[in-house]
Amino acid sequence: LHQQARHMEKLMLAGEIAAGIAHEVRNPLTVVQGYIQLISAKCKKQCNSEDSFSLLLDELNRANDIISDFLRFSRPDQPQKSQVNPNEVIESSASLIYGEAMRHNVRIFLYPDADMPTVLLDKDQLIQVFLNLFHNAIQAMPQGGTITVYTGYDKHLDLVTIKVLDSGTGMDAQTAQRLFSPFYTTKENGTGLGLSISQSIIHAHGGEIKVDSTPGQGTEFIITLPLHKLTEEQAGGAL
Ligand code: ADP
Ligand code: MG
Repeated sequence: LHQQARHMEKLMLAGEIAAGIAHEVRNPLTVVQGYIQLISAKCKKQCNSEDSFSLLLDELNRANDIISDFLRFSRPDQPQKSQVNPNEVIESSASLIYGEAMRHNVRIFLYPDADMPTVLLDKDQLIQVFLNLFHNAIQAMPQGGTITVYTGYDKHLDLVTIKVLDSGTGMDAQTAQRLFSPFYTTKENGTGLGLSISQSIIHAHGGEIKVDSTPGQGTEFIITLPLHKLTEEQAGGAL
């Protein structure tokens, strides 16, 4: 246990150093990204370089994502909770990832429960969770595929359930067991922080996140948010 604590300490320190650098790198990166988008839009008719632009933007997005991961891991934001319909969170997340999904031949289907209540949650943080899930799903579908999101509310269990399914590569049992650990990644360029951050956010909302995956078939992430815990917090004046 002591060794584990020291390991975590080292990881935290590494994250803090990275965060310092990341913070400074982000601004110039955003400027470059903006200009490439501009040039790409202007150039669309004249030159046949759409593929190069989309590659450039993907790489810049990736650099930006790595920076964001490190920053969020080492300096988690304070939750800003308000009454939000979880369906709204899914819709916002889906529209944010739409461009990237299109570029990778991934279609997104949403099946929101019409009777979803509003719950007390941090919308930006939850959007972050779904962006992470969508992002991983897209990366697990190099030939394209589908992402399907179901939301449901169980009155008796007082539970909001959100399921995110993909038709991707799936994963072996070892990965499924370890994927929420910080810095665990099977990707050459992964940070291994996305799911660790996502789990922390869900836990901070009193919820759970679980994975169910079959290699070669696809992956399902299941998030449950107990409504009463979120409302109790509100009654306690957490706002
Ligand atoms: P990263 O994406 O940087 O690797 P994450 O924490 O987001 O870090 O994910 C950790 C690992 O979990 C990934 O490297 C991958 O092996 C596995 N994984 C996550 N989501 C999926 C998915 N939808 N399909 C297959 N594998 C996944
Ligand atoms: Mg990821």
